[in-house]
Amino acid sequence: MKEVLINLLYIVSAILFIFGIKWLGNADTARRGNRISSVGMLLAVIATLLYGGLDWKLVAGGVLLGSVIGLVVAARVKMTGMPELVALFNGFGGLASLLVGAAEYHKFHHAGAQSYVSSLAAQTGVTVPLAFAVIAISLTILVGGITFTGSLVAWAKLSEKMSGRPMVFAGQKTLNIALLTASIAGATALGAQPAASWSAGLVIGLVAASLLIGILMTLPIGGGDMPVVISLLNAFSGVAAALAGFIILNNVLVVAGCLVGASGMILTFIMCKAMNRSIGNVLFGGFGAIAGKQKASTGEMRPASVEDAYYVLEAARSVVIIPGYGMAVAQAQHAVKELALMLENNGTEVRFAIHPVAGRMPGHMNVLLAEADVPYEQLQEMEPVNAIMPTVDVAIVIGANDVVNPAALDDPASPIFGMPIIHAHEAHTIYCLKRGKGTGFSGLENALFYHPNTRMLYGDAKATVSALAAEFGK
Ligand code: NDP
Repeated sequence: MKEVLINLLYIVSAILFIFGIKWLGNADTARRGNRISSVGMLLAVIATLLYGGLDWKLVAGGVLLGSVIGLVVAARVKMTGMPELVALFNGFGGLASLLVGAAEYHKFHHAGAQSYVSSLAAQTGVTVPLAFAVIAISLTILVGGITFTGSLVAWAKLSEKMSGRPMVFAGQKTLNIALLTASIAGATALGAQPAASWSAGLVIGLVAASLLIGILMTLPIGGGDMPVVISLLNAFSGVAAALAGFIILNNVLVVAGCLVGASGMILTFIMCKAMNRSIGNVLFGGFGAIAGKQKASTGEMRPASVEDAYYVLEAARSVVIIPGYGMAVAQAQHAVKELALMLENNGTEVRFAIHPVAGRMPGHMNVLLAEADVPYEQLQEMEPVNAIMPTVDVAIVIGANDVVNPAALDDPASPIFGMPIIHAHEAHTIYCLKRGKGTGFSGLENALFYHPNTRMLYGDAKATVSALAAEFGK
């Protein structure tokens, strides 16, 4: 009877996860998706606790500690720090799976093969072949370990605890391939002879290899390729959880892990497409490390005043606003919405051009603009907006840099060559809002700022946009 209740609760939480993820796919329903997924997770936790036989003190201690850390971190994190936090969450998801794998191996090693399989069957009602259990343990350790250290390196790069540049050394790819091949061979050997005297040593070796692969895999990735690696590690954390679900035969863990794994992989491919890169090229290309001599920008950056910009904007019939990471840093979204309203009231057609990798996390600009209640219909993707860019009177680039860098179109030596960008340089006049001469995430110089039709509006984006809006209000 208890088994039935637990499985029913698991089915309900799996359904809630599926609806949650579906609703998360749209800005209008995302909050509802988040809430419903949280309820699903609560049900899954309650169902798992119903199994009984748990050390309640340990469970309560874990829940308390985790909740306090989660609450403090979530309350303190700034919007611009979200990608780092997500990288850490992915990493701890991977570590949790690795620990489940290692603990199960420990149980199996001490109880002996037969009694391990029978105790698993008594607990879950399912009898699995021993080789299946041991291969699942090895793969969970492998994927969990890679996710853990890979995510820690991604976190360190994103939070600038270490250089965000790709780090490559001779023989890196060969070493990675050798380690991965050895790990898979080890997992297979473990599946074939789970009770061999050398199996414990092999498991320890597997843990070490997985941790090393995670580091070596993420070190050479840097610059503009980081969004792809974060999304990939997110998918890995899902796969690791699903594998852990196979070990302990927990249906909801398998379902939730597969959902995270599949959606993370879909997002990874969307990101790759947005940057016109293949996944192999991202993982093994070494962003920036393959570049030749890039074109040097000639000319000068021409500063303009807010008053000058106001006169041009006041006469403009069409304006495209291109937000980037700097808008997030300045928290300028509300001021931007106000300026857009002022322009519309003045009879100007206003569009927002959203690049898929603008900011520091997938959908970053959409989230910020939705927070400021910018109508969803005003947000346009790259292709349609690029098609009309030569007819646009003014492009306002707000804290964006890499996503409007024309080197991606015309400089084969540039590391971002081939990445689709928003063609801000084709507008009649371009205003670029930034604080100074800082480069973007990729560290590359941007010829857009030297373009004859570009004027620089220096200063914090929020202050500049508010000053522009104030001019309209005068
Ligand atoms: P960039 O990082 O290329 O440029 C941001 C610009 O904002 C800088 O040039 C900076 O110049 C300016 N800036 C910073 N603070 C302010 C401020 N307070 N006011 C005004 N300007 C400011 O941003 P993009 O959005 O164009 O590109 C995103 C980059 O991040 C891409 O390379 C992408 O690959 C990468 N990335 C994206 C992720 C994602 O999932 N979206 C995740 C990880 C990386 P200055 O210092 O002079 O002010």
